[in-house]
Amino acid sequence: IDSQQFREFGKAAIDILADYYEYIRERNVLPSVEPGQLIRQMSEDAPEQPGDWKDVLKDFNELILPGITHWQSPQFHAYYPTGVSYASIIGNLLSDGIGIVGFTWIASPACTELEVVTMNWLGKLLGLPEEFLNCSAGPGGGIIQGSASEATLVGLLAAKDRMIRKLTEVDPNLDPDDVHNKLIAYTSDQCNSSVEKAGVLGSIKMRLLKSDAFGKLRGETLKKAFDEDKANGLIPCYVVANLGTTGTCAFDPLYELGPICNEHNVWLHVDAAYAGSAFICPEYRGFMRGVEYADSFDTNAHKWLLVNFDCSTMWVKNGYDLINAFDVQRIYLDDVKTRLKIPDYRHWQMPLGRRFRSLKLWTVFKTYGAEGIRSHIRNQISLAQYFAKLVQSDDRFLIEPEPALGLVCFRLKNGDNLTKKLLENLTAKKEVFMVAASYRGRYIIRWVICSRLTTKEDIDFSWKKIKEETDLICLEKVH
Ligand code: PLP
Repeated sequence: IDSQQFREFGKAAIDILADYYEYIRERNVLPSVEPGQLIRQMSEDAPEQPGDWKDVLKDFNELILPGITHWQSPQFHAYYPTGVSYASIIGNLLSDGIGIVGFTWIASPACTELEVVTMNWLGKLLGLPEEFLNCSAGPGGGIIQGSASEATLVGLLAAKDRMIRKLTEVDPNLDPDDVHNKLIAYTSDQCNSSVEKAGVLGSIKMRLLKSDAFGKLRGETLKKAFDEDKANGLIPCYVVANLGTTGTCAFDPLYELGPICNEHNVWLHVDAAYAGSAFICPEYRGFMRGVEYADSFDTNAHKWLLVNFDCSTMWVKNGYDLINAFDVQRIYLDDVKTRLKIPDYRHWQMPLGRRFRSLKLWTVFKTYGAEGIRSHIRNQISLAQYFAKLVQSDDRFLIEPEPALGLVCFRLKNGDNLTKKLLENLTAKKEVFMVAASYRGRYIIRWVICSRLTTKEDIDFSWKKIKEETDLICLEKVH
């Protein structure tokens, strides 16, 4: 493909995407494909001969799009959102277009520096304490990781390293391996699977402590666990607090957990993968009261800030904790000796290579402005409240727990089996997509406002479908 064909290929691809969004309401949110369908449709071997780009787009339309679950459909209400905006797509395109890898400053100075700039912008907009920001006097700073899972693991590995370093400094006779074997980490039983997995990947026992009746991990529970484990010779090392759990969007009280962690020199990481984006609106910052006690904080800009996957924004109070843990030198990576203020981001993450992810954050900031992003969040939350009102207006349903941000959980009063059947039937019809969770032992359906395209009329459509299916199920029950 030469540059002229690239122009045509690129413009045609943009046209396909623009049409995709314009006509997205004509598609069911869930695809009608059988398992193995695409595998059967594709040739067994890679093409031997070069092909025409027009055939690539034809196959994309005819073979690939039919097998897509439409996350940007206005009827997609499952999981949590994944962000998309035209500005962000262009940011990604520009990043791919220049084809760089930015592991050191010299590998692409603008890649490092735009990340510093945009992470300062976003950190300030979220109202994070100054110590987390690269522009503060201290050793804090932000980095874009690929996912919240990576951020949790990076925090865990750095926490282990910091604890072993501290204890062996105080008592040089200690064997670092012995210390390592005694380390233990904590989170709540409501944590995302990725938090538990970080324990597996990081070779440390991760205790899932019992949350209270509202799904929050309380200070007294954490303190009791520390005391028990210390009495048994273990060393508490890492705590992951959840701001906006995946199941029900519960918020752990950082103001209770933080002082306990600080007292025991335990690293506190805040997983605010979904809910953190809402802190761009000052009225939601109450949920992060106590964040000043944390060592690291992560939110997925790629969930709710109109930025495409992947862009997980993580801040740490002390960049040296990461550098101490992950700095491995090679002569070919020797850089102008970079300082903390212009970080060698390769020491702040797991891989060596890194994408120019800050470009899409920057294109979104530049085109929406902070006000545009705030009004997106506010509009989405008001749409969730609109849906909650519809559910409340039908006395066959119960909303439980209280809606939080863009999440509304509900169930049929008539029991778990009927609620489960309602979700199964709706999923089978492919017009509305939601997933389940459990709350206080009951089966609930999670409805999340996800697509930036969703309007009140779209919600009326989803609600109509939910009511119609409920009518059918209730009728079946009577007969
Ligand atoms: N933490 C929470 C609370 C989440 O809701 C999710 C995903 O939805 C994750 C972590 C994992 O995020 P990622 O896929 O970016 O690793």
